[in-house]
Amino acid sequence: MQPIDIIIIGSGIGGLVCANLLAKEGYTVCVLEKNRQTGGCLQIFSRDKRIFDSSVHYIGGLGKGQNLYQIFHWLGIMDQLKLEKMEESAFDKILIGNDPVEYPLAQGYERFKENLLLHFPDESAAIRNYSEALQSVCGKFPLYNLRSGGQYSEKQEVLEIDAKEFIDSLTANPKLRSVLAGNNILYAGEGGKTPFYIHALVTNSYIESSWKCINGGSQIARLLAKNIRALGGMVLTGKKVTHIQEEGGRIASVRTADGGDYKAQIFISAIHPDQALQMLPTSQLRPAFRRRMHQLENSVSCFSINISLKKNSFPYLRHNCYWHREGRTWDMQQYTKPEWPLGYALFTSPGIGTDQYAETLSILTYMRTEELSPWASTFHTDPPSAGRGESYEQFKAGRAEILLKLVQERFPQLENAIQSCYIATPLSYRDYLGTSDGSLYGIAKDSKDPVKTLISPKTKLPNFYFTGQNLNLHGILGASITALATCNEILGNESLTDKIANA
Ligand SMILES: Cc1cc2nc3c(=O)[nH]c(=O)nc-3n(C[C@H](O)[C@H](O)[C@H](O)COP(=O)(O)OP(=O)(O)OC[C@H]3O[C@@H](n4cnc5c(N)ncnc54)[C@H](O)[C@@H]3O)c2cc1C
Repeated sequence: MQPIDIIIIGSGIGGLVCANLLAKEGYTVCVLEKNRQTGGCLQIFSRDKRIFDSSVHYIGGLGKGQNLYQIFHWLGIMDQLKLEKMEESAFDKILIGNDPVEYPLAQGYERFKENLLLHFPDESAAIRNYSEALQSVCGKFPLYNLRSGGQYSEKQEVLEIDAKEFIDSLTANPKLRSVLAGNNILYAGEGGKTPFYIHALVTNSYIESSWKCINGGSQIARLLAKNIRALGGMVLTGKKVTHIQEEGGRIASVRTADGGDYKAQIFISAIHPDQALQMLPTSQLRPAFRRRMHQLENSVSCFSINISLKKNSFPYLRHNCYWHREGRTWDMQQYTKPEWPLGYALFTSPGIGTDQYAETLSILTYMRTEELSPWASTFHTDPPSAGRGESYEQFKAGRAEILLKLVQERFPQLENAIQSCYIATPLSYRDYLGTSDGSLYGIAKDSKDPVKTLISPKTKLPNFYFTGQNLNLHGILGASITALATCNEILGNESLTDKIANA
């Protein structure tokens, strides 16, 4: 075996993009993934001969020349991706309480403003100011714009702006406020906590362009892994890292659950930083740093129903739908048991040979992990274990019934369209993604203490780095940009940013 330059723990989009970028720079890389399937949140599963995305349903920034397009283009996978552009006039439709109107969020800023104005003719100033604020805030994040030479001070002034407060300040119209934040499940938005910059970076990417992966997002992971191997690297599955070993102030090796020992010059953790630190017993890292990583709050988890639909029974929607109860836009996570759920997101995928009808439909809503505490000690991934028991199955079925009933109020045709349902709970996400709590997007950013929730890719150990959704921004775009940040640190310059921008 060739000596390995760089070991990457975790094959989510963050780990794979890092590995591919560095392999392209000439390093011999090795990705260690605990699961049988690569991709982390990009994993798919198949039931009834249909493909379901486990997590990722749409991706922003993939239009020609846009930020994620440039990264994937540089890595040589852009042309091979099977993508479908979502509806130009509405990538998302926002549904609120009993209001029958479906409020569209359109692609392209001009169309975005025009389409909202049709519903809010008196709110042109608010809609214009909102659009300008999104673009202006995004402009302050150099890497998001693939711009080298940027300074932290550029974004510093916007980190403390609270998303809810800012949106509320633009208009007194409660409906418009709710529409502008109506898809905040995308970033687990919480009033008084979620920074406006997170809202802006995510929302802007979808306004710029929104895409669905045909036959699932795992194609991205597959193509990246293929590239890594073609460049002499390795992507090894079924390799759960259990120990990160330090010697003389540097990481020397990692150990896997099957007894393997992997040595390299540089190590990148593409998993939750707290979990990486739990595996790394060293006095080189200050207890205060460990405590901080351990105490940072993660975003909420979720409950999802993945439905295999009867043939030609439910329309294929080229947009996603986000419903929430009136007045609860920003506190859907704070549900009480009787009022659960306070909102949901609904995604469809097309059938083979038809784009008129959907083949699968997924519904996603928040669920706090504490609700699953009776089964917290169970573990279940692929290959299947004994399962979590009958009471867990009953819990899932009961909650699915409540959620389906709510969704059917808005989509009555769903009642007769269901062939079979597959349910995921916070424990499913916890076990498949290897997180401690099934959190949707990892460390939750906080406008009240933004610096505390931004994690540097560099650590005090000179050859140990972090990457992935927990550092700066989640999502396929966010974790890819963070991968670039980590690579820039390792390479010691920003030439890679320029190469990608100019690719
Ligand atoms: C339900 C859901 C829906 C989402 N929807 C979207 C969407 O529509 N669009 C979008 O852009 N983003 C979406 N996201 C967010 C996005 O998917 C994530 O932010 C992003 O994929 C995270 O990438 P990552 O590489 O940081 O982490 P992950 O994808 O979590 O990857 C981490 C990897 O590390 C592995 N691992 C963990 N521990 C170990 C260990 N000890 N040893 C070896 N391997 C280990 C895991 O198995 C996993 O493969 C969604 C997320 C969820 C959960």
